[in-house]
Amino acid sequence: MNLNYKTLVQKYGTPLYVYDFDYIKNRYEVLKEAFSGRKSLISYAVKANSNLSVIAHLAKLGAGADCVSIGEVKRALAAGVDKYKIIFSGVGKRDDEIKAALEYDILLLNLESEAEMKRVEMIAKEMGKEARISIRVNPNIDPQTHPYISTGLHENKFGVEIDMAKRMYIYAKKSSFLNPVGIHFHIGSQLTNLDPIRESCNIVADLVRSLNAIGIEIKFFDVGGGIGVVYDDEKTISPTEYAQAIFEATKGLDVTLLCEPGRYMVANAGAFFTKVLYEKQNGHKRFVVIDGAMNDLIRPSLYNAFHKIEAVGAEGEKTNADVVGPVCESGDFLGKNIPLPPLKHDDLLIVHSAGAYGFTMASNYNTRNKCAEVAIEGGQDRLIRKRESFEDQIRLELEYLEK
Ligand SMILES: *Cc1c(COP(=O)(O)O)cnc(C)c1O
Repeated sequence: MNLNYKTLVQKYGTPLYVYDFDYIKNRYEVLKEAFSGRKSLISYAVKANSNLSVIAHLAKLGAGADCVSIGEVKRALAAGVDKYKIIFSGVGKRDDEIKAALEYDILLLNLESEAEMKRVEMIAKEMGKEARISIRVNPNIDPQTHPYISTGLHENKFGVEIDMAKRMYIYAKKSSFLNPVGIHFHIGSQLTNLDPIRESCNIVADLVRSLNAIGIEIKFFDVGGGIGVVYDDEKTISPTEYAQAIFEATKGLDVTLLCEPGRYMVANAGAFFTKVLYEKQNGHKRFVVIDGAMNDLIRPSLYNAFHKIEAVGAEGEKTNADVVGPVCESGDFLGKNIPLPPLKHDDLLIVHSAGAYGFTMASNYNTRNKCAEVAIEGGQDRLIRKRESFEDQIRLELEYLEK
């Protein structure tokens, strides 16, 4: 991003999330292009960054939405995503969520257990509807990523085994209230190796062939999300090779290919701006205390994730420092042993690759206001979420306060 940092900080304050909308557009177009030649739908995984303006930006380009709660479905609809491009996944959908999804008539409810399928059938029956469903298959493939973001092993809570999936399809096919049209897998996030994806595709495509053979026609082949991005110096999967691997595995199948990227679309489009409050030294250890914290960006604390941190405009010899926030937890850091020049009050730090799983994982811990979000498009900046106020935070408690 080529930005006038100073102006942005003066205008919007810190901590602040800034997203490059032109970059997001490019990411979408590159991936869509990689899938050209086959029927495809890219449904953006809303949980990566659910700001309405981000979703709307992608919707205008033609993207759908992959949602994991009815709240996300509502966001997608509010942002203008076509209902027939919305998928609802997740291991624990409540009755009211299932009912609302059926009322909204979205493309697919993606089912993750037999019990859930029976629940959906019952609710669809009560409503006199037929639920379009897909089943999430757990192919038991090690995605070679962080255990917290691995989802395609039997030890993970997601999806159902192949044999179970087959039984579920046979059941659903016979039901008047279920229409099994899709198949799905999502083996993990931040994948940098194509082999586990290829392997999963092959396993699931074989299942589709055996379902087709018994008259169950699968129209949507959903390969999930998970394409990795560069945080440090990772080698990532090329979109073309990714699409080609999927083409190869699904050769001869008349399916629409569905893909649900989250991180790939927005991670590198975003940066987190934070200002230095103080420098301090505890023995030999150097700390840079900033106005951003784990409540704004929890990835380093939660996954020990790495983000590049750049000091803007500061000069001098670099030494290693831990970059820490004001939150009362030793786990509150955005970086450890980061080489940084000497810093003074109000110097700006930019935490890179913060566009995915940044703001969406933010909380009010320590009664800190959630920060503002800004979009940059065609060289113009605009506010896409106001900085929260203290009043916003206490509003729902005030009426219960004894006078
Ligand atoms: C989280 C999630 C995604 C997106 O994952 P990324 O790693 O951000 O691409 C896609 N599909 C499902 C079902 C998910 O839960």
